[in-house]
Amino acid sequence: MSIATQSTDPGLILALSKGRIFEDTLPLLAAAGIVVTENPETSRKLILATNNPDVRVLIVRASDVPTYVQHGAADFGVAGKDVLLEHGGEGLYQPVDLNIATCRMSVAVNAGFDYESAVRQGARLRVATKFVNTARQHFASKGVHVDLIKLYGSMELAPLVGLSDAIVDVVSTGNTLRANHLVEVEKIMEISSRLVVNQAALKLKRARLQPIIEAFERASKQSLQQG
Ligand code: AMP
Repeated sequence: MSIATQSTDPGLILALSKGRIFEDTLPLLAAAGIVVTENPETSRKLILATNNPDVRVLIVRASDVPTYVQHGAADFGVAGKDVLLEHGGEGLYQPVDLNIATCRMSVAVNAGFDYESAVRQGARLRVATKFVNTARQHFASKGVHVDLIKLYGSMELAPLVGLSDAIVDVVSTGNTLRANHLVEVEKIMEISSRLVVNQAALKLKRARLQPIIEAFERASKQSLQQG
C-alpha cells in the first residue's frame, strides 16, 4: 500500500492492551473473521497486522486505550470499566459490555487493621490507589473522609510500608492480596471490559465497524450463556 493510499484510508485501527484483555478479545475478533497474525508477548512491534489488510491492532497501556480512541488515533478499542471510569468516557461510544477480563474493584487493608471501626469512628483514612475518581466517589457516598494518594502500580505495597491505611484496587483471584497479607474489606463494584468506539469513526466508517461490533456482541453473549 502506498503512503498516499495510507494517508487517505489507514483502515480500521483497534486499540488493545497486552495480557488478559488481548487474550480475551482474540475469540471475539475470530467471530468477526479477524485473526491477529503477530504475538504482542514476543514481538516488540506496537502495531500488529491481522489477516484482514483493512484492520490493524495498536498495543497500548490499558489506561491509554480510551485516550487513543477518544482522539481518533484508534477507531475502536477494548477497555475495562475501571479505566473508563477514570477516563470519564468523553468522546466514546460504549455499545457493548463484552463481559471479558472480569474482576472487582475493592478496598483492602493490612490484616489486623480494624477498617469497620476506623470508618465508624469517622477517622480520616489514607487511601492509595490508581483509581482516584472511583475511590473519591465511593468514600464520598459513604461520608468517609479520605486522603487519596495516587499511585501508578504495586498498590499492595502501600499499606505494608505505612504509606496508606487502605488501597483501592482491582482484584481477581485475591492471590496478590493474600500473598501480601492484605484483606479485602469492601467490594466497590464488579468490573468487566467494554467495547469503545470513536464517535466520529462510528459515523464515517459505520459500514465497516458495524459488522465487527455485532460479531463482538454475538460472541460475548454466546460465551456468557456457555458460562
Ligand atoms: P489477583 O491476584 O488474581 O487477585 O489479581 C490481582 C492483580 O492483578 C492486581 O495487581 C490487579 O492490578 C491485576 N488484575 C487482576 N485482574 C485484572 C483485570 N481484569 N484488569 C486489570 N488488572 C487486573
